[in-house]
Amino acid sequence: MIKAVFFDIDDTLYDTSGFAKLARKAALNVMIDAGLPLSPDDAYTLLRKIIKEKGSNYDRHLNVLTKEVFGEEKPLLVALGMITYHNVKFALLRLFPETMSTLIHLKARGYHLGVISNGITIKQYEKLVRLGLHHFFDSVITSQEAGVEKPDVAIFELAMETMNCKAENSVMIGNNFNDDILGAINAGMSAVFLTPELKESERVIIKEKSLELDIISDIGQIKDIM
Ligand SMILES: [Mg+2]
Repeated sequence: MIKAVFFDIDDTLYDTSGFAKLARKAALNVMIDAGLPLSPDDAYTLLRKIIKEKGSNYDRHLNVLTKEVFGEEKPLLVALGMITYHNVKFALLRLFPETMSTLIHLKARGYHLGVISNGITIKQYEKLVRLGLHHFFDSVITSQEAGVEKPDVAIFELAMETMNCKAENSVMIGNNFNDDILGAINAGMSAVFLTPELKESERVIIKEKSLELDIISDIGQIKDIM
């Protein structure tokens, strides 16, 4: 019987949101230096609006931004912004302090480890490789590969099939209540919710549905429960 632990990547294994924000602001500052006629705050507000409209996996946010400001794309500004964004992001790419020791702990206990992530396959692998984590995982399933996104149960089922494990022996660990936690529970798996603070709306759903899940605020706490 295979016991499997599946992880979300972004904001579960590492602090995606914090780094992305710093990298975006750095990119905009370089673009402003090179002639983008906005204040840093206005530029960031506009970029966030575009990211919200296009989705975070769209790869031409800065092209759209220059088009909105100038009425046409400005390739040089886009190139400056993209280079800065990627360089700052990779310079700051770090695991949460307890991620590595937690994965080592689970491996030593005989768990098979997998990833279930909404995103583009190559981009998600790139993160795992850059973070030095790819060798921990027996299976990496992305929404691009599955054809559906979390919380669709089909992506969890595909991951378990790939790992050759059953739902009753599988755990999902993630930071998104709807996508990771409700999705996994609907697929029959156990769930560990990684969150700095439980929202009232989440507390209500847990109570109403009598959901059984573990709630942790630091990935290292997995070592205490598994
Ligand atoms: Mg996440």
